[in-house]
Amino acid sequence: MEKLQNFINGEYCAPINGAYIDNYEPATGNVYSLIPNSDEKDVALAVESAEKAFPIWSAMSNEERSEILIKLSDGIKNRMDEFVAAESRDNGKPLSLAAHVDIPRAISNFHFFATAITHFASESHYMVGEGVNYTLRKPIGIVGCISPWNLPLYLFSWKIAPALAAGNCVIAKPSEITPYTAYLLGKVAQEAGMPNGVLNILHGLGSSVGDAIVKHPKIKAISFTGGTKTGEYIAKTAAPMFKKLSLELGGKNPNIIFADCDFDEMLKTTLRSSFANQGQICLCGSRIFVERPLYEKFKTAFVEKVAKTTVSNPTDPKAILGAVVSKPHMEKVLSYVQLAKEEGGTILTGGEQVHLEVPYNNGYYLRPTVIEGLAYDCRTNQEEIFGPVVTITPFDTEEEVLIMANSTQYGLAATLWTTDLKRAHRMADKIDAGIVWVNAWLVRDLRTPFGGMKASGVGREGGEEALRFFTEPKNVYISY
Ligand code: NAD
Repeated sequence: MEKLQNFINGEYCAPINGAYIDNYEPATGNVYSLIPNSDEKDVALAVESAEKAFPIWSAMSNEERSEILIKLSDGIKNRMDEFVAAESRDNGKPLSLAAHVDIPRAISNFHFFATAITHFASESHYMVGEGVNYTLRKPIGIVGCISPWNLPLYLFSWKIAPALAAGNCVIAKPSEITPYTAYLLGKVAQEAGMPNGVLNILHGLGSSVGDAIVKHPKIKAISFTGGTKTGEYIAKTAAPMFKKLSLELGGKNPNIIFADCDFDEMLKTTLRSSFANQGQICLCGSRIFVERPLYEKFKTAFVEKVAKTTVSNPTDPKAILGAVVSKPHMEKVLSYVQLAKEEGGTILTGGEQVHLEVPYNNGYYLRPTVIEGLAYDCRTNQEEIFGPVVTITPFDTEEEVLIMANSTQYGLAATLWTTDLKRAHRMADKIDAGIVWVNAWLVRDLRTPFGGMKASGVGREGGEEALRFFTEPKNVYISY
């Protein structure tokens, strides 16, 4: 059985304690590799190597660092097929999704921040006749990057790339559920000429190695993407140590459809925004609100299309949905379907596990599910399910749908479908969300601020926001 390794000081190495955990293939339910069950000793070793590397890396010019990051981006591109296959196998997502979304985006993340840093400038504030303030923006030092399993390399690189571009050394931890592409990244970093100790990749459980990263006194900032509960714990742990924190957490996003929308465009996109990546994207619109005059037409057309959606093994080119990421996650999603029934909901389509042929008969496949008849404030409509399950609810007025849309603890993203320009502006202004798409979904310009409000997070990633997060501003005043 293949044993993955940590990547510390530019080399692959076994965890110090020699312990490993199973890595499952969601498509078959079989264990297919072992990953290091690292702990605080591995974190200490990685911090030691990062400490040595920091003076070298931070003293390089932006252009020199940029060149290495572009090589890293090209390195992934050159191994495209290997990365695509690994991501799909590790996560259960269709190969086509890994090939068109995950891996291309990881390539772009490194390329984007490699070039962004060469345009990054700091501020100056002139005081008429008295003097001038200028802001130095220096790398923080050693930073921790912790990412989830749903878009493994996509979100891992989204943090690492700006951290490295800004001159920091990184201790990074991918999810223990999807470690493989992060494991492959070490090799690419070596080939790109990344100095030893600049990028360290540790594997293992959140409660051991993740916690040790958050608690290590020499790790000065934590960039975390994952669940709201974990974010809360990390905030409680890191705040008294005065660490800089960026938290990208859960969501329960509204998809609000007005009767005047472009119906065909809306329907096509709503299928994606509901079920892409098996509904395991923090930005999926899992609560669909439809203006009453359109409700029945939408319901009929949507349910018909959802019922015909192909759920298949990730290597099947016809697969629209692959496997969800793990057995416990599949069970969690199914328990919410059960809850929806208990709360008075009607399952219009889906709601059950799909059993494929051998060798996929023990894989974690779920039929995409549409539920109606639930109150907007019931648990099914308030808690993050993070699977291929959506609810549909009719509404009559803008005021009413705003109350329902804004009723959850979350505030990550929202989608609006309308051709009324004034209404689009009015609604976008009033929705509790860090990101609003009008007549679109998941359109990402890497320069824009990305993140959520309320329990969806603290801070923003993307573009200058990320480069600002990963640098320490210092104001210098010069008197005339
Ligand atoms: P999770 O919180 O369980 O784990 C995320 C990462 O944190 C993993 O690497 C895990 O090992 C680590 N971790 C767990 N406990 C830790 C601890 N005590 N200390 C340090 N690290 C710890 O989340 P998940 O199940 O992997 O991911 C799903 C969640 O992520 C969903 O809630 C989803 O909405 C959210 N998410 C948010 C965004 C966003 O941009 N806002 C993007 C993707 C996913």
